Amino acid sequence: MRQPCRLALRTLGLRRTHSCPNASTLDFVPASSPISSLALERMQDFISRSKRLFMITGAGLSTESGIPDYRSEGVGLYARTDRRPIQHAEFVRSASARKRYWARNYVGWPQFSSRLPNVAHLTLSGWEAQGKLHWLVTQNVDALHSKAGQRRLTELHGCAHRVVCLGCGALSPRQALQTRLGALNPGWAAEAGGVAPDGDVFLTDEQVQHFRVPSCEACGGTLKPDVTFFGDTVHRDTVGFIHERLAESDGVLVAGSSLQVYSGYRFLLAAREREIPVAILNIGATRADHLAALRVNARCGEVLPAILPL
Ligand SMILES: [Zn+2]
Repeated sequence: MRQPCRLALRTLGLRRTHSCPNASTLDFVPASSPISSLALERMQDFISRSKRLFMITGAGLSTESGIPDYRSEGVGLYARTDRRPIQHAEFVRSASARKRYWARNYVGWPQFSSRLPNVAHLTLSGWEAQGKLHWLVTQNVDALHSKAGQRRLTELHGCAHRVVCLGCGALSPRQALQTRLGALNPGWAAEAGGVAPDGDVFLTDEQVQHFRVPSCEACGGTLKPDVTFFGDTVHRDTVGFIHERLAESDGVLVAGSSLQVYSGYRFLLAAREREIPVAILNIGATRADHLAALRVNARCGEVLPAILPL
C-alpha cells in the first residue's frame, strides 16, 4: 500500500509533507480486507458517472495520519479507553471543566497539530484540481484537508487550529494560544497518554489542578476551540450553504464516516429527497447504509487513489 504514497508524492512534487501508512500510523485503522476488484470497478463506475461530486469525510480518513477516531471497533477511543468527548454545556458552564480541557489540549497540541495529510487527503485535493470534486464537507477538525490543499471545503464542525472567544467572537490561531499557555504555566509538564480526534489527552486531576487558562486579550471572555462540541449545533448558515452545494451535485460519496452524528447524516437524508445517488466507503456499518446504492468496506487510503489516480 506504499505505492500510492510515492505516486502522490511524485505527482505533487512533495517531500515529507504527508504521511504514508506504516505500523504506527495504522494503529488506529480498524482491520479490513483488501478491496475486491469487483467492488473497485463498481466504485470507479459510480465516480465516473458523477461530474459534480459531493463528498462527506470523517475520522476514518484521518486514522491513517495517526489520529484515532471515536467509534471504530477495537481501535477507536470508545473501545480502547473510558474517555468521552467534552459536552458543550459542560465547557461553557464549568471553569474546572475548561481547565481540564485546556490542560489536556495543551499537552496534546504539539503532536495533534503536526499531523500530516495522507494519500487519501492528497487524492481528494487532486480530484478538486481535476474538476471532479464539486464540494467536500468534512466532520474532522484536524485541518488535514486544508493542509492537503483542499479549497472547495466546509469544515462542518470547525477547526481545532482556531480559537474563538465566547464573549466577543474574536477568532485567533490556536498556535498563538499555545504560546500564552506556555508562558502562564512555566515548568508545567505532563506525560501525554494518547491524543483524541479533538486534541484531548488524559491527565490526572492532580496534574490539572495548578494549570492556568488565559482569557480573551480583547474582552476577557472565555476562550474555546472553534469546533462544535457534542451537544452544540452547527450554525444554520453553514447548514444552508452545504445544502446549496449538495443541490448542485449529481453524486454523493461518503468516505471514512459512520455518520452516527446527525449533523452529517442529515445531508444523506437530503440526498435521498433529491434522488442524488450515494456511495459509502467506510470500514464498518454506517447509519446511512440503507440510503446507499453502493457500499464498500475498505480503507480510504487504499481505495480512493485506486478509484481515480492523480
Ligand atoms: Zn473576546
